[in-house]
Amino acid sequence: MRIEEDLKLDFKDVLIRPKRSTLRSRSDVDLSREYKFLHSKLKWNGIPIIASNMDHTGTFAMAKILAEHQLLTAVNKFATTKQWQDIAANYPSLQNYVFVTAGSSDADFKNLCAVLELVDYSMICLDIANGYSQHFVDALKRVRATFPDKIIMAGNVVTGEMTEELLLSGADIVKVGIGPGSVCVTRKKTGVGYPQLSAIIECADAAHGLHGHVCADGGCTVPGDVVKAFAAGADFVMLGGMFAGHDECAGEIFVENGKSYKRFYGMSSTEAMNKYVGGMADYRSSEGRSVNVPYRGAVEDMVLDVLGGLRSACTYVGAKKLKELSKCTTFVRVTQQLNEIYMHQETGDIR
Ligand code: 5GP
Repeated sequence: MRIEEDLKLDFKDVLIRPKRSTLRSRSDVDLSREYKFLHSKLKWNGIPIIASNMDHTGTFAMAKILAEHQLLTAVNKFATTKQWQDIAANYPSLQNYVFVTAGSSDADFKNLCAVLELVDYSMICLDIANGYSQHFVDALKRVRATFPDKIIMAGNVVTGEMTEELLLSGADIVKVGIGPGSVCVTRKKTGVGYPQLSAIIECADAAHGLHGHVCADGGCTVPGDVVKAFAAGADFVMLGGMFAGHDECAGEIFVENGKSYKRFYGMSSTEAMNKYVGGMADYRSSEGRSVNVPYRGAVEDMVLDVLGGLRSACTYVGAKKLKELSKCTTFVRVTQQLNEIYMHQETGDIR
């Protein structure tokens, strides 16, 4: 047994120090990025924020709205080939804004191949809770060999050495985050995890050394956290909880004690297991929770809030483009983030 004494940080442990800036207005800030990838020959251009491939947020309805703002959606792996076909026929503009998601099983691989035979989409999200298993690395190699030109995002991991391993095994983008998610209980159930800000910094450093990219996945609770994730070096940021509870999410609105909600659950929760695989296997424990999220209307309001926060942050540190944000950032360690005195009297949305 070994103890690492270096302090690791989360979003809540830092703030971004403002700097002298010549930017006149937030509207001067360019949030779009253009990426060339390590393996795929394809280029991508857009605002690098992704709706999570959870079944609640990774929907086609979400994809349509986010694509209008040049944001991405990782469509959940339970979408049927028929749904993909309909979408491809009716919404050709989604081609560069959705990921087709798969896990690491043979059935997932077959389904992925079936979808990509029908629709010419260019991005794949290979998602597994524990990206450290050799089985996952082998699955990634198989997908890369089958689809040499596609943009492949794979994860999740939280350390530099495994980021390198996934990049060398065929990933263009490595998804970073174990345990920070809003409906994740991995840390509680297993004691395993890594503070998300440090995970992003360390994995981005490793990835950029190999000309790879990283996607920070999980733990963002407010637009300021999305800013911190980009400032820490993330090339993409994935959001679950922040995009939950909206019209575009799966599930019906229901009313309890006069308040409207939508149901949101972790993809490893008992609820998800019951829904998709007929229950939780005896040898596993649930690593996700189920919550009722207050219904929050159109996701577009949240998108504009996040993009507004990013633009504003860029003007505070003198970054003309999102690309420059990380270089312009100095984090300061803090013991307090917010003045909470009126927190419970807020009337509007809880953002
Ligand atoms: P959020 O943005 O809600 O904080 O985090 C979203 C991320 O949490 C997802 O993209 C996924 O990586 C992770 N996640 C989703 N469901 C579960 C789950 O049931 N268990 C765990 N450990 N993580 C989950």
